[in-house]
Amino acid sequence: MSTDAVTMDKIVSLCKRRGFVFQSSEIYGGLASTYDYGHYGVQLKSNVKAEWWRSLVQRRDDIVALDAAILMHPRTWEASGHLEGFTDPLVQCLGECKRRWREDHLREAAAEEGRDPGEELRCPECGGELSQPRNFNLMFETHMGPVADAGSRVYLRPETAQGIFVNFRNVLQFARKKPPFGIAQVGKSFRNEITPGNFVFRTREFEQMEMEFFVPPDEAEQWFSYWVGERRAWYERLGLRPDHLRVRAHDPDELSHYSSATSDLEYLFPIGWSELEGIANRGDYDLRQHAEFSREKLEYVDSSSGERYVPHVIEPAAGADRATLAFMVDAYDEESIEGRERVVLRFHPRLAPVKVAVLPLVNKDGQPERAREIYEDLRERMPTEFDTGGSIGKRYRRQDEIGTPWGITIDHQTMEDGTVTLRDRDSLEQSRLAIEGLGVEMERRLAAEWRSPKLG
Ligand code: ATP
Repeated sequence: MSTDAVTMDKIVSLCKRRGFVFQSSEIYGGLASTYDYGHYGVQLKSNVKAEWWRSLVQRRDDIVALDAAILMHPRTWEASGHLEGFTDPLVQCLGECKRRWREDHLREAAAEEGRDPGEELRCPECGGELSQPRNFNLMFETHMGPVADAGSRVYLRPETAQGIFVNFRNVLQFARKKPPFGIAQVGKSFRNEITPGNFVFRTREFEQMEMEFFVPPDEAEQWFSYWVGERRAWYERLGLRPDHLRVRAHDPDELSHYSSATSDLEYLFPIGWSELEGIANRGDYDLRQHAEFSREKLEYVDSSSGERYVPHVIEPAAGADRATLAFMVDAYDEESIEGRERVVLRFHPRLAPVKVAVLPLVNKDGQPERAREIYEDLRERMPTEFDTGGSIGKRYRRQDEIGTPWGITIDHQTMEDGTVTLRDRDSLEQSRLAIEGLGVEMERRLAAEWRSPKLG
């Protein structure tokens, strides 16, 4: 039966074996902590982002979409506080190993293990003495135009949120929204992390899915709780096991410079409980800062009552790569069936990169041609694969490893009575279905509720 056999190493090797994720610039020896997504990885991550858009924008009428540029006016980062405050405390081992650590992570780990987080820290690797913390700015700098001087300095954005704040007034005017309303954005962010690692969990270039929800000030607390609940429910609906998810409220000394309350949604990764998404009550900090630095009014004025105020902001900020990793880790399973081992990714069908594999049982007797016809019909409706290579068992195993929920086999009976065998990835049940109406039936299955079989 199912075991939770997952480790980070198994995920990394499956990702490589099946073309989900590769080391970046591998032929040159790779660039540290930088990854490229291959065919199935692109589709999986696209599905994660599509589900985020569907839940935040398509299925609501109070949130609109935005896609702001990565390069922004440098004043943005003065106003946001990133130039001053977007730093991590770096400590370096003065002993043998000379490794660098994030002081805040070491203190969190001490607290987690029941030790005093204020204690004198030693290097976790070699036990050496650690340097005094030094603040390290995480923003990547570059230059715009031909001359690389201070006047041409720009930054790769370290979060997508600021693109939303500087567009607040545009959206207010053109989308005809009034608080409470939100602006959602998905895009690349860049942070010169001190301690990247754990595969795509922490990289220097990554994708975020952020939404800023602007609310009347006296409703901020209520909306904060609402979004913590909504975001947790989103992960659960897409199959993450509820006992592998938890909400952790930040202690007052952990809060970012702008936040009056933050809760992290954490997932039990193989590396332990770690942040998946942060939900912050940012108050009116961002709009006030940008209003001051740009000298533009950033407020909401109610045209009927004349009431004016600076909305407060609730921000659910998720990582697309981290969420994709969590869905893979949660889906990973190994089982032994009649003495044969199989590795299977039990993805929610909506997240699975491929929904259906169409497989002729043998490569003769007209079966491949019939299978190809069925495949060409189904691929108009959903991502479908056609595979004729190798034994049927081998082809099923390949599909199990990429998490394809359904396999359709064309056999000699198909040629006689127009039915096919449908194999279910999780239960391994096989049933006979008519080719006629197959597309509609597969769409029905894809839209149906789903529950992780790992929950028993
Ligand atoms: P951490 O404490 O892990 O550094 P953070 O609290 O700085 O993260 P936020 O600024 O709240 O992270 O970013 C929101 C989300 O973006 C995170 O929950 C995470 O999913 C994602 N994210 C942040 N930094 C990275 C990174 N270096 N690599 C991958 N994803 C990241």
